[in-house]
Amino acid sequence: MKQFAVIGNPISHSKSPLIHEMFAKECGIDIGYEKILSAKGDFPKIIHNLISKGYLGCNVTLPFKEEAFSLSQELSERAKLAGAVNTLSFCEGKILGDNTDGQGLVEDLLRTVETLHDKRILLIGAGGAAKGCIYPLLQAGVSSVRVVNRTMEKAQSMVAKFTNSEQLSVVSITDLEIIEVDIIINSTSTSLSNELPFESQSVFRKAQLAYDMVYKEVLTSFEEHAIKSNSKIQTQSGFGMLVGQAAESFRIWHDVKPNISPVIERLLNGND
Ligand code: NDP
Repeated sequence: MKQFAVIGNPISHSKSPLIHEMFAKECGIDIGYEKILSAKGDFPKIIHNLISKGYLGCNVTLPFKEEAFSLSQELSERAKLAGAVNTLSFCEGKILGDNTDGQGLVEDLLRTVETLHDKRILLIGAGGAAKGCIYPLLQAGVSSVRVVNRTMEKAQSMVAKFTNSEQLSVVSITDLEIIEVDIIINSTSTSLSNELPFESQSVFRKAQLAYDMVYKEVLTSFEEHAIKSNSKIQTQSGFGMLVGQAAESFRIWHDVKPNISPVIERLLNGND
């Protein structure tokens, strides 16, 4: 049996074992996948312990994605640009780091919009989740990504990393009254506390889709605000991104891409 794990703090809420077990069943692969709670400072020790026990990889969640980045001996391009790692593979004595969050987002967006080609994106937030999705969005062919963040300097330094991208820019909260975008992605944690990243309604009026990375079994505060601002807008929360990033980790480890839709359905129906 191939052994994997997810490491974080907190970790009891994690649905990763369930998701990976469903993928494994679908693909006929025998895996073990467990949750590991790590105290601050214990992360490297836990990783080396997993390697010595013959585990083949692990997922990494908050607050260890940057530490996983530092521990990686080889990094994918998207992990380098994200500055964070959520997927580690232990291969021939080496620790390989990747970041599948952005790919998970892109795949989930494509369940709703036919193509991302030429779409104008507004990305709200400049934390780890935002960093991980810029490169995959650009790779998917979007025409622009405008970033807005409460702390503007953070958005500016995030955008500055992408030296060759003319499609990427920072906008201020006041600019939201005048710009037009197709897809609005909320990568802030505000919906966890039923808050909004900003009060502006006009930016939603011409948009097609409002996407909240936070996932809940009911509409998030951000989705509600989007619908209040534009009754025709479609909304989506981050369940699909969660499953999509897991599917991409699964592909890295097992070289087969599982089907995400039945797993998303099961999570959305709240059967687990
Ligand atoms: P970070 O802590 O790195 O970043 C948080 C971001 O939210 C920052 O841009 C911060 O702005 C902004 N923010 C926080 N509070 C407020 C507020 N009250 N008003 C306005 N902006 C605010 O977190 P992550 O980027 O790692 O994660 C963000 C969210 O995305 C989390 O809730 C997480 O659950 C979700 N996520 C979902 C995934 C999925 O698979 N669905 C995957 C990864 C993340 P500032 O810079 O000004 O502090």
